[in-house]
Amino acid sequence: MKPDAVSRGLIGAVISRFEQKGFKIVAMKMVKMSKNVAEGFYSPHKGKPFFAELVSFMTSGPIVAAVLEGNSAVEVVRRMIGATKSPEAAAGTIRGDYSLAITANIIHASDSEESFEREYGVISKLF
Ligand code: GDP
Repeated sequence: MKPDAVSRGLIGAVISRFEQKGFKIVAMKMVKMSKNVAEGFYSPHKGKPFFAELVSFMTSGPIVAAVLEGNSAVEVVRRMIGATKSPEAAAGTIRGDYSLAITANIIHASDSEESFEREYGVISKLF
């Protein structure tokens, strides 16, 4: 969960959706990303016009990092969070229900097993 989810008091609402769906929360921690960690986490986007804004936002306050376990976790979680651009995210998805922004879009989720391995490598150092 990104800093906007924490500052808006949406941690419980978001986690609750995953719990209700049947996922097991196997790790979870509130942490503050340093600039270095945020840049590493989002390194595939380095050079894009929104990179600096994204890193600045991700380091603007605490995040809640969590690892979820369950059937087809990557695919199901991605479907539950909705489209990257919240204004385009379907109602009933997390971004569709809680955000109208693109940078402050509530949540990140790995989009493949390979992404999970890389992203967990960055985030797990904070656990
Ligand atoms: P995600 O996997 O759905 O989070 O999307 P991406 O991996 O493509 O992008 C990472 C994050 O960068 C997104 O969640 C947005 O916060 C931000 N982002 C992506 N595309 C854009 C864009 O076109 N403009 C802006 N301002 N931010 C973007």
